[in-house]
Amino acid sequence: MTLPEEIAACRLCADRFAATATAHAPRPVVWFGPGARILVAGQAPGMRVHISGRPFDDPSGVRLRDWMGVDEATFWDKTHIAIAPMAFCFPGYDAKGSDLAPPPICARTWRAQALDHIGPVDVTLLVGGHAQTWALGPGRVTDRVRNWREHAPRVFCLPHPSWRNTAWLKRNPWFAEETLPTLRTAIREALT
Ligand code: SF4
Repeated sequence: MTLPEEIAACRLCADRFAATATAHAPRPVVWFGPGARILVAGQAPGMRVHISGRPFDDPSGVRLRDWMGVDEATFWDKTHIAIAPMAFCFPGYDAKGSDLAPPPICARTWRAQALDHIGPVDVTLLVGGHAQTWALGPGRVTDRVRNWREHAPRVFCLPHPSWRNTAWLKRNPWFAEETLPTLRTAIREALT
């Protein structure tokens, strides 16, 4: 069995998910293979992705692809782009209707093996606080995104592309004016 097949068969969080309001079963969304040039390290699938089985197959994905300057075919081509979130399954909702945090057991169990399987990449996107903390240690997302030049062009710290961050994007126009053009150039170069 390959590593992606092993992860796809994982049911470690079955009891945890059964206890959430949606009482769903694990459905790992595994979308990576060796040799990709770009790694998208996100948080965890949302409900729409849980249903479709394809990562970022939702409005967050539309925004992320726009940030990256890639079309759907390129984004979902595993030979170009590996997508390895901090948890491979939808974690459920909290009492306010927000997605729960990715269960830490997922990264503990699979993350090192997944990154090893993907191999070295040219560009890594750390999307949201969980992926940034895992890769860089504790810190604030806004500070990290604001200081994006520290790690660019090999690593970009990005806010989550969720609609919940639309107000943040409006308050911080430098992100679209300065960060995204550099990100798109790095992506374009990695893809060629
Ligand atoms: S979130 Fe990760 S550890 Fe939990 S069931 Fe899904 S693949 Fe397994």
